[in-house]
Amino acid sequence: MIYFKKPIYVTRPLLPDLTKYVVKLEEIWNEKYLTNNGNQHKLLEKELKRHLNVPYLSLFNNGTIALMIAVQSLRLAGEVITTPFTFPATPHVLAWNGIKPVFCDIDITTLNINADIIESMITPQTTAILGVHVFGNPCDVHKIQEIANRYGLRVIYDAAHAFGMKINNRGIGTYGDISMFSFHATKLFHTAEGGALAYNDVYLKDRIDYLKNFGIKNEEEVVMPGINGKMNELQAALGLSVLEYVEDEISKRTVLFDTYKRLLSEVEGITICSNMSCYPDEIVHSYQYLVIKIDKELFGCTRDYVYAQLRNNNVFTRKYFYPLCSDYPCYKHIITASASNLPIANTIVKEVLCLPFYGDLTINDVEVICNMIRSYRNSGFSK
Ligand SMILES: *Cc1c(COP(=O)(O)O)cnc(C)c1O
Repeated sequence: MIYFKKPIYVTRPLLPDLTKYVVKLEEIWNEKYLTNNGNQHKLLEKELKRHLNVPYLSLFNNGTIALMIAVQSLRLAGEVITTPFTFPATPHVLAWNGIKPVFCDIDITTLNINADIIESMITPQTTAILGVHVFGNPCDVHKIQEIANRYGLRVIYDAAHAFGMKINNRGIGTYGDISMFSFHATKLFHTAEGGALAYNDVYLKDRIDYLKNFGIKNEEEVVMPGINGKMNELQAALGLSVLEYVEDEISKRTVLFDTYKRLLSEVEGITICSNMSCYPDEIVHSYQYLVIKIDKELFGCTRDYVYAQLRNNNVFTRKYFYPLCSDYPCYKHIITASASNLPIANTIVKEVLCLPFYGDLTINDVEVICNMIRSYRNSGFSK
């Protein structure tokens, strides 16, 4: 008998009360102004700057274009050191900028780029380090900055999983030169599609804002080859409505996280790898994902078996980030993409599983899912 009558997915978009959104749509209709830095856009930019604790912020139509423009704004070229354990957008943005991604292995605990290896990957062509705060675990921002300073490199963070995170009470977006946030529907805070860049340098503001609007400075001047990366008023209004619900969503997820932790963290062979507490710094977490790692020897069955069994029971988990970016046909020829250069990433990618995690799940749902997982222990190595 299948317990869940309807499929349970990894996430569901956080939707505001529709009447709240309609009020904002009426404002837009009255203004007859749909895009190009309108009132909703200005207000969302201001609210997010406050929420993310960052001095400068620019909004975008999605996170990938935002990251493209981050790379353009710093005039990066040659090689950029990054992680193979991420969403395709991260290395693709480098490729679209004519830059060679150099894959660096990951840390076995945080699953982020291993700062102790970065230095050995630097060549005369290296211009930057592109880290990803995977599953809301921050990269080793202090060590990465120290290496960047020593070699004169830029630092960009893909902070798509790190909305609202803080390190030692500082917004995560204030580390490195530029951080990218994604506001895709599957992210904790979203604008259906959308994104932002956060940065500390006031001189980047003009350049980034020109780049996202065709390089247009005014009616008579186009100052650089820009692209169209603008967030429109309907997206911004949705963001303003969703933002009001974020705090409540996080408190619901905190309870669910604690339930997962209570039922899974003691199980031999299972490690919870989101919201890690392995840092010397004080971390405020994003509560965006609930990810576990399954050690097939200790747990007595593989990640793929757990994935398939849950699926048979209407629970649709995700194997983020399988396959590794270094295994895509477009990157596997790169020397640093070889499995021998990335032993930890190649092990981890067979072990991680992203479990259902969103405010509308009940504690009982989580208990049922955890009990299913626990029942698979020692059920063999079937694929
Ligand atoms: C979601 C995501 C992106 C892409 O963001 P979009 O807004 O969908 O373009 C990039 N990197 C990571 C790690 C992501 O999870």
